[in-house]
Amino acid sequence: MALVISVQEALEILRRACVARDAECVPLTSALHRVLARDVQSDVAWPPFDTSAMDGYAVRLADVSAGEAPSERPGLVAAGDRPGARLSPGEAVRVMTGAPIPDGTEAIVPVEDVRRENGRIFARVVPRAGEHIRRRAEVLQAGANLLARGTRLSPSDLALGALAGADPIEVHRRPRVSIAVTGSELVAASARPGPGQLRDSNGPMLSALCAARGVDASLRVAVEDEDGAVRRLFAEAGRDEDLLITSGGVSAGDLDLLPEEARRSGFEILFHRVAVRPGKPVALGRRGKTLWLGLPGNPVSASVCFHLFARPALDSLEGDSHPGPPVRRARLTCDFAVRGERETYRDAFLEDDGDGGARVSPSESRGSHDLLAHARANALIRIPPGAGSLPAGSPVDCVILER
Ligand code: AMP
Ligand code: MG
Repeated sequence: MALVISVQEALEILRRACVARDAECVPLTSALHRVLARDVQSDVAWPPFDTSAMDGYAVRLADVSAGEAPSERPGLVAAGDRPGARLSPGEAVRVMTGAPIPDGTEAIVPVEDVRRENGRIFARVVPRAGEHIRRRAEVLQAGANLLARGTRLSPSDLALGALAGADPIEVHRRPRVSIAVTGSELVAASARPGPGQLRDSNGPMLSALCAARGVDASLRVAVEDEDGAVRRLFAEAGRDEDLLITSGGVSAGDLDLLPEEARRSGFEILFHRVAVRPGKPVALGRRGKTLWLGLPGNPVSASVCFHLFARPALDSLEGDSHPGPPVRRARLTCDFAVRGERETYRDAFLEDDGDGGARVSPSESRGSHDLLAHARANALIRIPPGAGSLPAGSPVDCVILER
């Protein structure tokens, strides 16, 4: 039997095995939540020219100090216009928000702060130097690094990409994933289970977890606990996928055939069994560029192992420099005791404490088959190995169950 490794060790092995897929160019507007494959530099300064932040008058300070009133130059400068001639002494130029301002402008007086009389401009308030002027390059210089490769792009990152002219933009190809549930007892959710049968809940759950990560996984038909069927699954693996995710068949029972059949089909087993509760039988294999992640069949174990292992695998295959689910620190609302030496994850409800922090309450769970408790949880409390019992108020790390 293979050595049981820690979650930390398993994640390191996983990260090394999950090499980012190739880069591809996509239209910027299709790049939301994709991972950048190369740094993005700006080819322009920002702002690209001195510009007005308000509708108002471009003025020289001396011309609007107490008792002075410059005369208005005919016409106006709008956004998209050229800046016009340099401001002469005693002159004010009407400018719109976003307009390039004439050289020599020292402040903008907003239109609501002026009185116009006989072609002259009386400022009600004397402006400060530079007021309402956005100076060229005050936000960034041309050539500045805007986005680092490995970034998962947010809507505002797309705005930066647009500013920098990064359209199309180079991102990593999304991993191709297929999901196969195993177990002779399983029937489809649409069927009525016969004696000894139960409905497959892992298939819909795992494909939805992939979809929530932007990965359109294909769901294979359920695989029987039978050598030939399992062998076929591994023989075909890699044709259509970078990563095959299975559920069931990785424990120590007589019908837990997957690790052995994977090995026979040429997969190198990178780990099998991790010191984690739930989810100890989880396995990772590799054949060429194809990876196999074997999750346990119990529904809560399958979900916990998805968040702990499949999520970082998907992220790393996409080149994400911060793989894995978000984790938040929170205080326990009650005493909490853990048996055994394994790192433990427990369904929980996490909420803001109204004070900038968070509090977390462990759920009543009957075990790794208790889908009801799991479906109501929004986080998993992580208890390090050997922590024993923790009093109420103890800080703990919580893995956020993203929906
Ligand atoms: P296994 O890991 O194959 O030993 O399965 C452990 C438990 O999870 C058994 O009680 C199975 O019936 C159950 N199980 C396995 N696969 C699924 C599935 N796809 N949906 C729901 N329950 C499952
Ligand atoms: Mg099974």
